[in-house]
Amino acid sequence: MDLEVVVGDITVLETDAIVNAANSSLLGGGGVDGAIHRAAGPELLRHCRRLGGCEVGRAKVTPGFALATTWIIHTVGPVWRGGHDGEPELLASCYRASLTCADEVGARTVAFPAISTGVYGYPIGEAAVVALDAVTSSGTDVQAVTFVCFDDANRRAYRAALGS
Ligand code: ADP
Repeated sequence: MDLEVVVGDITVLETDAIVNAANSSLLGGGGVDGAIHRAAGPELLRHCRRLGGCEVGRAKVTPGFALATTWIIHTVGPVWRGGHDGEPELLASCYRASLTCADEVGARTVAFPAISTGVYGYPIGEAAVVALDAVTSSGTDVQAVTFVCFDDANRRAYRAALGS
């Protein structure tokens, strides 16, 4: 599997699928979730209303609507509560469940944001290690994964995790 780390806006990528760091309602929110809903257009929210939400650590897939990507995989990361409340396992589950969704729709190139590291407060250094471990250890047909960082501090955390 090819791994890439880039700084930028995930909503403009042309990968087969992009992953959304959603909340359990799947009805939109702030951060990357808000950006994806704005860019995908109102059809995405109409579609998400029918999905009945999503549990933490799980994922559900929708079309990309107005985005260049074919699919949007919506996953719900854990809120950071200090690290002893199952956060690493739940975060790893988000990455694995997202790749399972990608396999189900035949997506071969997938871009992930740094799930849970915004409003949900997961420390980026630890989140990057979990993300890389979960992706590289999963038996998926996905051929290329792009980790999309919104800023340079996030990029450095992924570079450090890749180096270790
Ligand atoms: P969460 O609620 O899971 O913490 P956030 O959206 O608050 O989700 O943040 C997750 C990560 O996504 C953060 O690192 C944030 O900087 C990043 N992010 C926000 N907007 C975008 C975007 N348009 N493209 C890529 N990453 C983004």
